Amino acid sequence: MYSFQYQRPADAASAAAAFSADARYLAGGQSLVQAMKLRLSQSETLVDLGGVQDLAGIKIDAGKVVIGAMTRHADVANSADVKRVLPALSELAGGIGDPMVRNMGTIGGSIANADPAACYPAAVLALGATIHTNRRTIDGDAFFTGLYETALEAGELITAVSFPVPTRAAYVKFKQPASRFALVGVFVSQGAGGVRVAVTGAKSSVFRCAELERALSAGFTEDTAKAVKVPVTDINADLHASAEYRAAMISVMASRAVAVAKAR
Ligand SMILES: Cc1cc2nc3c(=O)[nH]c(=O)nc-3n(C[C@H](O)[C@H](O)[C@H](O)COP(=O)(O)OP(=O)(O)OC[C@H]3O[C@@H](n4cnc5c(N)ncnc54)[C@H](O)[C@@H]3O)c2cc1C
Repeated sequence: MYSFQYQRPADAASAAAAFSADARYLAGGQSLVQAMKLRLSQSETLVDLGGVQDLAGIKIDAGKVVIGAMTRHADVANSADVKRVLPALSELAGGIGDPMVRNMGTIGGSIANADPAACYPAAVLALGATIHTNRRTIDGDAFFTGLYETALEAGELITAVSFPVPTRAAYVKFKQPASRFALVGVFVSQGAGGVRVAVTGAKSSVFRCAELERALSAGFTEDTAKAVKVPVTDINADLHASAEYRAAMISVMASRAVAVAKAR
């Protein structure tokens, strides 16, 4: 690991003020510290958000679940409110990594990191979430811009994510057994905005699957999802799975997610 300066502000405004060129925010450290240990990431200053109390917490507000950026995955998984109002999201959080990752990792860190196999980005797209930062609000559909790339500007701090509550929704992933990241994960939701389907783990960035959205809008059934042939264009291929296999798994995971959503 390269050496760095360390700052631990007590509120969001001080955190933003402490940010300088070549600085990075440190949330749960579950992705950033690994990257620093491997010398894949070098920052002159780490601005630790761990002491910023006003960034953590969960509110249910006018049909929305609003989650502070520093809320840990375990807190979302165990929240009685989230379980009651948006169980798909608590189940997603409960399936991330292992207990240490869930007790340290945060929703803000997860979406800022934009790992192509991460789970929360699928919820952001499938639920039509809004990202709140210290400067503006960003439509979830415009947030993920590529491999580990987002619409965030240098020093922009995610403060919260708000998820509209759908009529029904579910997230199902086919896990990489060692890390539990998604080889393919599919989040399906049906609500005021219609049917939305987001896929993670299958391309360089999370994406909405137009073929599945069209088919499920016509009939929200397991068989409809399973019958969709997802094009293999741009689908990842690696030692874990070919592009053809991943494309086929998208329909299978979507079908399972529809079954879970309908059973609620
Ligand atoms: C073994 C293992 C298994 C995992 N399995 C899964 C899995 O199954 N599913 C899954 O989704 N994820 C998984 N993860 C990733 C995990 O969810 C991390 O918590 C997440 O990727 C990063 O969150 P963090 O809070 O640790 O962020 P950090 O590692 O602290 O930061 C990540 C990035 O986000 C930036 N950042 C952090 N907070 C903010 C903010 N508020 N505003 C702006 N930028 C910010 C940082 O500067 C950094 O660039 C796994 C990780 C590990 C180590």
